[in-house]
Amino acid sequence: MAPIEVGISILVMCIIVWRLIYPLVVKYKIQKRRIMKNGLRKKYPDIFRRYKIGRVYLLPSNICNAFTFVWSTDVYLTEKCKGVLGEDCRMAVILHEMGHHQSVPLVESVSNALVPFFPLLALAFLRILTSIPPEFFLLSLPCLFLITWLLFLWEKRKEEYRADNLAEEGGFGKALKKVLLISCVVEHKPLKISKLREIWHTHPSALNRIKHLAC
Ligand SMILES: [Zn+2]
Repeated sequence: MAPIEVGISILVMCIIVWRLIYPLVVKYKIQKRRIMKNGLRKKYPDIFRRYKIGRVYLLPSNICNAFTFVWSTDVYLTEKCKGVLGEDCRMAVILHEMGHHQSVPLVESVSNALVPFFPLLALAFLRILTSIPPEFFLLSLPCLFLITWLLFLWEKRKEEYRADNLAEEGGFGKALKKVLLISCVVEHKPLKISKLREIWHTHPSALNRIKHLAC
C-alpha cells in the first residue's frame, strides 16, 4: 500500500473506533445525572402513560439540550434546559425525544449509525483482494464517504421532523415552537440557515422545524 492509502485507512479506522466508543463517553458523562422531581409527571399523568415515558433525568450542563438512548425510554434534560423552559416546553422536549423511539426502531437506528462505513469497508476489502489501481481507490474512497455521509445526515434530519410530529400529536406543537425559538436565543444559534449549510447538519434549522409544525 502507498503511504497515502495507509493514511486514509488509518483515518477511516479512527472514525469507526470513535463512533464505537462515543456511546461509552456519553455513558460516562451521564453518571452525573439526577432524577427530575415529579412535577411534570403529576401535571401530565395521561401523557406519561400514553407515551410510556420512562424516568426523566437532569444533567449538569450549561448548554440547552436533551436526548434519549435507543435502548431505554428514559429522557435526559440539561439543567440549563430546565432553567430556561417552562413546564409545557419541557413536556414538548420530552415528547420530541420519545418521538425518536417511535420513529426509529433499535435495529434501524444502529444500522443508520453504521451505514456510512459499509461502502468504505467494502472498498477497502476490494482493494486488498483485487488489483484495483490505487488511483481509483484514492478517488472513490472520499467520494463514497461523502455520498453515504450526506445520505446519513439527510435521514437524520427526516427523523427530527418525525420526532417533532409526536410532540404535536400529544398537543405540544405550540410549546415546541417556543422551545425552538428559545434555544436559538439561549445558544446564540441562527433561526434560519441556508439550504447548503443545512445539508451538513443532523438537525434541520429551527425555522424549517417551526414551518413543519402544522399548529
Ligand atoms: Zn431530536
